[in-house]
Amino acid sequence: MERPWDSRRAILHADLDCFFAAVEILDDPSLAGKPVIVGGTGGRGVVAAASYEARVWGVRSAMPMATARRACPKGIFLSGRYSRYAAISQRFHIVLSSITDEFEPIGLDEAFLDVGGARRLFGSPPTIASEIRRRVKAELDLSVCVGVGTTKQIAKLASRRAKPSVSGRVVRPGKGIEVVWPGQEVVFLTPLSVGELWGVGPKSLELLRKMGVATIGDLRRASDSRLRAAFGTRAAKLKELAEGIDTDPVIAHASAKSISHEETYASDLYGLSQITHEVSLLADSLASRAEAKGLIGRTITLKIRFSDFRTVTRSVTLDVPTRSRKVLLDRLRALIPPLSAVDGVRLLGASLSQLSDNRSVQLSLLDYWFDERSEALEKTVNDIKRRFGEGSILPASLLEGRHRPGDSSDPPMWGPSE
Ligand SMILES: [Mg+2]
Repeated sequence: MERPWDSRRAILHADLDCFFAAVEILDDPSLAGKPVIVGGTGGRGVVAAASYEARVWGVRSAMPMATARRACPKGIFLSGRYSRYAAISQRFHIVLSSITDEFEPIGLDEAFLDVGGARRLFGSPPTIASEIRRRVKAELDLSVCVGVGTTKQIAKLASRRAKPSVSGRVVRPGKGIEVVWPGQEVVFLTPLSVGELWGVGPKSLELLRKMGVATIGDLRRASDSRLRAAFGTRAAKLKELAEGIDTDPVIAHASAKSISHEETYASDLYGLSQITHEVSLLADSLASRAEAKGLIGRTITLKIRFSDFRTVTRSVTLDVPTRSRKVLLDRLRALIPPLSAVDGVRLLGASLSQLSDNRSVQLSLLDYWFDERSEALEKTVNDIKRRFGEGSILPASLLEGRHRPGDSSDPPMWGPSE
């Protein structure tokens, strides 16, 4: 039944089904209907995605690959091909941009859309959701589920409910689209597990469980003072989410923004070693800024202004977004153009663009995107800097001399392959 959407926001969450596994099946149709498991296929790899036929055997994202092999001995285990997934993801975004520019990609296979402005052209929000499904099927031959609601949180929870489900060894087809009409938010949320809300991780879940809060409805009825005692300033936000209130906007065009740092030097720099040293400092500062903002980016740009004010910018776009100190350092150094002895440099700049919010990156990817240890190391470095100032710690490479640039475009993100 169609009801008027009135003046409330119209938010869609579009989520491609079993994305990596679906791409593998697209590229090799003989895999259709089989338990396909994508990830790091080596002994210490993890599952990045699994088809529904694999999920009926209990295979899940982020599960160690060894566990998945035991659970599903007949599975087809494939190592992930990030660059292929990124290429398909780009086409997914092109389809979405044919509906509205107001879309916010989350990882490779999800996006929020604010379709308020698209309604005149395409019809009601549920009609737009069908149109997205139709276009994604027609142009990518992939299945996408769409949740429709008045907030991002509701749309996200709705798209999950539109997915196929697994019960016992049977896959039940999903509805493809789930609509939560304005005014129906509380009815929709009440029976859901409180763990499905944003910001409720295992720790919060344990605290809530102790308070007797299991469902979102329980949370809505919980006493404010007890919530404040357990969650402090976060209590109010949790309560709002439980009531279906979430003013988080769809942030479109995240790709237009960048993080940058420029230095103009009191006296011109000469020679490769002096310039390389300064570029290393810029890389370091860029990594700190990206870490502080919680952003990762794909395009790395180096800007050089010579003493005669000639300005050169050179950039490189990676398949995998990063804010890794080492990657930034290697890439920026590789961008330094050949210099003649007379080229004095008065300004250097480094920037990171095509940004994404690393909180919003799919968990299965985020966990294995960076080598875990180097990520932990970077956190430590940033903590030291916050306490003792920018210059208090330098990358070891500044002491080691020249670095070897270049890493493969398809890094093993899910653990080593076989
Ligand atoms: Mg998905």
